[in-house]
Amino acid sequence: MKPCNFDYFDPKTLEEVVVLMRQYGSDGKILAGGQSLVPLLNFRLAAPAALVDINKVKELDYVREVNGKLAIGALVRQRVLETSEAIRSKCGLLAETAEFIAHPQIRNRGTVVGSICHADPAAELPAIARALDAEMKVVGPDGERIIKAEDFFVTLMTTSMDPSELMVEVRLPTLGPRTGWAFEEFAIRHGDFAIVGVTAAVTLDEQKNCADARLAAIGVSEVPYRDSKVERLIMGQEISESLLDQAAHQMVEGVEPSTDLHASADQRKHLLRVLTKRALKKAAGRALKGFEKGRGKNA
Ligand SMILES: Cc1cc2nc3c(=O)[nH]c(=O)nc-3n(C[C@H](O)[C@H](O)[C@H](O)COP(=O)(O)OP(=O)(O)OC[C@H]3O[C@@H](n4cnc5c(N)ncnc54)[C@H](O)[C@@H]3O)c2cc1C
Repeated sequence: MKPCNFDYFDPKTLEEVVVLMRQYGSDGKILAGGQSLVPLLNFRLAAPAALVDINKVKELDYVREVNGKLAIGALVRQRVLETSEAIRSKCGLLAETAEFIAHPQIRNRGTVVGSICHADPAAELPAIARALDAEMKVVGPDGERIIKAEDFFVTLMTTSMDPSELMVEVRLPTLGPRTGWAFEEFAIRHGDFAIVGVTAAVTLDEQKNCADARLAAIGVSEVPYRDSKVERLIMGQEISESLLDQAAHQMVEGVEPSTDLHASADQRKHLLRVLTKRALKKAAGRALKGFEKGRGKNA
């Protein structure tokens, strides 16, 4: 199939993008890497009146560290998560997770921000955004605002951004040496969308107990799933095998995954349990290594 007709714009500045999005509102669509939008256009599952291609808006292509956060602009490709030294050293979780996203050809075009805006319930980056309490900087006809990750993902492929708004950058915290992290997922083949995936970040305190725990899962609900009860269960505790079992068990309690062509609800629950424990264990192990290397300094 071929897409429906649309007007095409390739503005060079953010200001021009905002003007176009104000003009078209819900009839317009931002085109970033095109790796999700173009298939939707070809299948006529999306039929916007106008495409606003941001690929020439070079001011959106940056990775910066601002006040302990990594700011990743809307034109940064997923591939950069693997190649950027700043990202690898400040938020290794992003670098490692990128390898789960599709294939190199897709990561060369697909953007970090585009993946978050697309809000696919099986996508990896929205889970990281949710687990690490990312902030989304968006601009629209009414100016600029920051949306917290907890308020951003509304339901399946739906976010709290207005159709006339553009996400300019996502801000993620940098992770100190006492924070360990992991992303674990199960997919039928490497590069396929995950059936279930879990990301974890664990920070140790001076006594090597858990000072902070973050967990988010994909493939088990319509938005990245995070359960503060499970995180509270781990916090303040010494990480042990039985604590991890308890956490993994409790993580499953809160979800009602659906059965589909790829997996039954029970299979998804099983995967969630196994992957939660695996991710937490890896994250805690890395935190301990970081702790010992830095002798507990610089949490
Ligand atoms: C074969 C294949 C396998 C894939 N496997 C995976 C996978 O395993 N895991 C995974 O996470 N993804 C996967 N993807 C999707 C891929 O990661 C996409 O690149 C990503 O979902 C969208 O990023 P994009 O830059 O290509 O966005 P686009 O396709 O250009 O846009 C996607 C949506 O986001 C909106 N959008 C984009 N940027 C902005 C912005 N700055 N502000 C507001 N709205 C915006 C668009 O209007 C559109 O609605 C796969 C894609 C393909 C084709």
